Amino acid sequence: MPFKKCPRERISAGLVKSNQEGLNELRRSLRGDVLVRSDAEFEAARRCFNLLIDRRPAVIARCLDSQDVASALGFAQAHELEVAVRGGGHNPAGHCAIDRGLVINLSRMRRVEVDKDARLARSEGGATWLDFDAATQANGLVTPGGVVGSTGVVGLTLGGGIGHLTAQHGFTCDNLLGAELVTPAGAVIRASAEENPELLWGLRGGGGNFGVATQLEFRLHPLERVLGGRLDYAGDGVRDALRTFRDVDGRAGNELSCEAELSVDEYLTPNLMVVPCYTGPNADPEELRALRSAPGLVNDEVRSQSFLDQQRILDPGYGVDRNYWKGHFVRELSDELIDDLLSRMVALGHPPGAILFESLHGTPKDVDPATAALGYRDAAFNVSVMASWLDPDRDEQQIAWARETAAAIEPWSIGGGYANYMQADEPLERVRGAFGDESFDRLQALKARYDPDNVLHRNQNIPPKL
Ligand SMILES: Cc1cc2nc3c(=O)[nH]c(=O)nc-3n(C[C@H](O)[C@H](O)[C@H](O)COP(=O)(O)OP(=O)(O)OC[C@H]3O[C@@H](n4cnc5c(N)ncnc54)[C@H](O)[C@@H]3O)c2cc1C
Repeated sequence: MPFKKCPRERISAGLVKSNQEGLNELRRSLRGDVLVRSDAEFEAARRCFNLLIDRRPAVIARCLDSQDVASALGFAQAHELEVAVRGGGHNPAGHCAIDRGLVINLSRMRRVEVDKDARLARSEGGATWLDFDAATQANGLVTPGGVVGSTGVVGLTLGGGIGHLTAQHGFTCDNLLGAELVTPAGAVIRASAEENPELLWGLRGGGGNFGVATQLEFRLHPLERVLGGRLDYAGDGVRDALRTFRDVDGRAGNELSCEAELSVDEYLTPNLMVVPCYTGPNADPEELRALRSAPGLVNDEVRSQSFLDQQRILDPGYGVDRNYWKGHFVRELSDELIDDLLSRMVALGHPPGAILFESLHGTPKDVDPATAALGYRDAAFNVSVMASWLDPDRDEQQIAWARETAAAIEPWSIGGGYANYMQADEPLERVRGAFGDESFDRLQALKARYDPDNVLHRNQNIPPKL
């Protein structure tokens, strides 16, 4: 890159003025555009999902292709700017937002191409699940993704991916067949079963550690309608309804995915939302009958509907509240743990805030564990404490509640946590634990190969093995 290096302090103080020449050069070198603080779109572009994170980069490079990404990476390193990568902006740790550095923003790279006959989708680095599902469902096809449409396809996939079709088709990353990445050195590389297979293994769970993904390729499955929706329970029955949810997931096959969210309303009445997604041939499956007859049912919206409607059940606003999440993959959801979590939910003393239960039964257990870096395939559930609030004065109380509640889950943990839901304050050991020692060592070797200087460290970081 032709840009002259300049000291970090000058860049930090305002790259725009101190290095206007370099910035102009960056603008000329990109097909996409460059935003700085004086640009009208800067504010919206810098924001992430979690309002707890409030950072202002020096420059946002909105890339249009892999060459743009290489130029932005080169510019950042030549100017000693810290790099962050933004796909859908959903990561609760706010890794896509940095103070002073350069954000590679992929929000203008959202094309999704579908090869119906080959049952393949190629998705650009900034596509969201809304983009992806719209394109694949237009062809009656699907891959298991996230449950909120505005979440980024790449961020979610590289961390694993749990959603409405996990039991049917495994983690999202189990359906990842290939990727195009730009490494921090500016090389455009491919990962697939034939080309750099070790990298493909690492991308299945290892996050955005090895390069900026400009394209991911997915296996697709035929699917149009599902028997799904939401069931709501309230009051004293919630305890037994949550046990029923656990038992149903324990015996369900690969045709039913199911997740549940525990919360309280403003009167501190416990609420439970259960979201089943059944894709089998039965019009009235036994598992749904069991859920419907659990105590406390106050609302039943389960029906035959399109998969796109299923994907719209949970659609929170973007960047509207403060969030702190912490959780564990558990080997079982015991009665004792359910009772404890219920009383901790009530003890929070006010809405919002929730505890999410994602069942990992079905296909995740059938996939050969050697095909992916992630290490939580054996868990029964992913249990996540999700504090969310509006008032900054409540930061300390909410964070303490999430930490203490997560600590109560720990005795049932299989180790580590879900990288996709981790905050930035998680110790390296929790990241290591999400993979296991052997896989983590392999990931560190991959990191040393593709990003030896740890340029891409704004993530659940895997430090390079030196
Ligand atoms: C409301 C909400 C709902 C969610 N629902 C689910 C769910 O149903 N299932 C689930 O498994 N997870 C879910 N998540 C978690 C989500 O998977 C992670 O937060 C994920 O990191 C989000 O990806 P993103 O691209 O939107 O986020 P970003 O904040 O933009 O990116 C997060 C990180 O991903 C990496 N990354 C993103 N794009 C690229 C790229 N193109 N190349 C390289 N690295 C990249 C970077 O390291 C970046 O720091 C949810 C999160 C939220 C806030």
